[in-house]
Amino acid sequence: MAWDYKRYGLIPDPVHKSHLNELTGEYGCAKRFRYQRDAEFAPAADGGAPEKALNYHLACGTAAHETIARALNNVAVRERILAGQTIAEERIRATFEHELRVAADGRDIDWRDESADAVIGERIAMVQGVFATLPKYVEGIVAVEPGFIVQLEGVWYSGHIDLVYVPRGLPDALGICDWKSGESKPHPIELAHSWEAGIYSAALQRGVFLPRERVSLTRRSDGDWRGQCGAVDITRRSRWQAERDGLEDALKLIAAGNELGGQFTLEQYPARVYHVHMRDFVPYVKAGTKNAKRPEDLEYYGLEREAKVKYTAGEWRGPGWLPVHLHENDIARLAHRTRNVIGTVRMGRFIDFVREHCQRCPFARDCLTGGYSARGDELAELESNLKKAGL
Ligand code: SF4
Repeated sequence: MAWDYKRYGLIPDPVHKSHLNELTGEYGCAKRFRYQRDAEFAPAADGGAPEKALNYHLACGTAAHETIARALNNVAVRERILAGQTIAEERIRATFEHELRVAADGRDIDWRDESADAVIGERIAMVQGVFATLPKYVEGIVAVEPGFIVQLEGVWYSGHIDLVYVPRGLPDALGICDWKSGESKPHPIELAHSWEAGIYSAALQRGVFLPRERVSLTRRSDGDWRGQCGAVDITRRSRWQAERDGLEDALKLIAAGNELGGQFTLEQYPARVYHVHMRDFVPYVKAGTKNAKRPEDLEYYGLEREAKVKYTAGEWRGPGWLPVHLHENDIARLAHRTRNVIGTVRMGRFIDFVREHCQRCPFARDCLTGGYSARGDELAELESNLKKAGL
C-alpha cells in the first residue's frame, strides 16, 4: 500500500511533531519526508537493509528518557525524588546502562568520535539534574509518557508527552514538560511558537490519552517484538517501535469511537509548560565567564539585566527548566500554521532542501541523480503503462 498523502492528517495517518520538524525544521527536508513515508507504507519485500549500528545520540536519548520514566513510575522512588532526596548515582547508572542495552537491542552503538564513558557520564548527570530540580517545579505526577491523539481544526495529531504533572503551589492546575538532551538551547521565540508545545498543550486541553503501559510487549521467537492493546496486534523489529506504534494504533481506534479501557482526558490548558534542557545539568569542567542574557539565566544568576557571570568547575550550566510562554489563545494560530504545512503535503508539494545534510541522506542517490523514483503501487502502475505503450 502506497502512502496516500492526500489523506495525511486524518485518523489513520495522524501528524507527528517530528513530521512537522522534518517538513519545516532547520535540519528537515520535505522531499526526504516523502521518501521516508513511502518507505514506511511500502516496505521492501526482504524487510529492507539490515539495521546499522545505532547512533549514540538516539540510544542515549532513549536510555535517559527510560531511566527517568522508570524512576517516576516507581511510587517509592518518585516520592523520594519529590521529597528532595537524592537517588544514588550507582543506581541511576545501573538503570541507564540497562536501558541503553534495551535500546540497542543487540545492535552496536555508533559512538562516532566520542568516548562512550564520557557520554554516559554526561547523560547520568542530566538525569541526576532532572531528579534534583523536579521538586522545585512538580508537586505531583499525573502521567509519565502517556500517548495522546487530538484533533485541531479537522487535522489529527498524535504523540506522547514526557510528563504531565501538578505544578508546585498550583494544586488545581496541570503542567507539562519535555526532556531534551540536545546541545543548543532553542531561542525563546522558537520555544514560544514551537509545534511541540502547542500540540502538547492542545492535547492536554482537548485530546484523549492512553498510558503506554496499556501496550503489552512480548518477544517472538524470530526476535521481533509484538505489541498488543485491545484489537491492536502489531509486530516490529524493535521493542520501542512496537510500543510506540501499538499505542498509536490503539489511540486511532479510540479516536474512531472505540472504547479500549484505560483511556482518559484531562480537559485543562496547562498552567505551566517547560522545555527541560538537560545539558544545563552537565557540570562545567573548568572555571570561566559567560554572558547571561536569557530571562531564565538572569533569574538563575540573580541578575536584573544582561551581564557577564563567572562560573566554577563542577557548577551547572543553567537552570535547565526553560519556560514556554504559549497562551491558550495562541492555539488557533498554531492550528492555522500547521494546516498550511499539512496543506502542502496534501497537495503533493515536497520541496527538496539540498545542502550538506544530503551527504547522510539514505535517499540521496534517487533524489540527487535520478529525481523522484516511483515505488510500490506507483511503480507498478508506471511499468504497466509503459508495457501497454509497448515500451
Ligand atoms: S538528498 Fe537532500 S534534498 Fe534530496 S531528499 Fe535527501 S536531504 Fe532532501
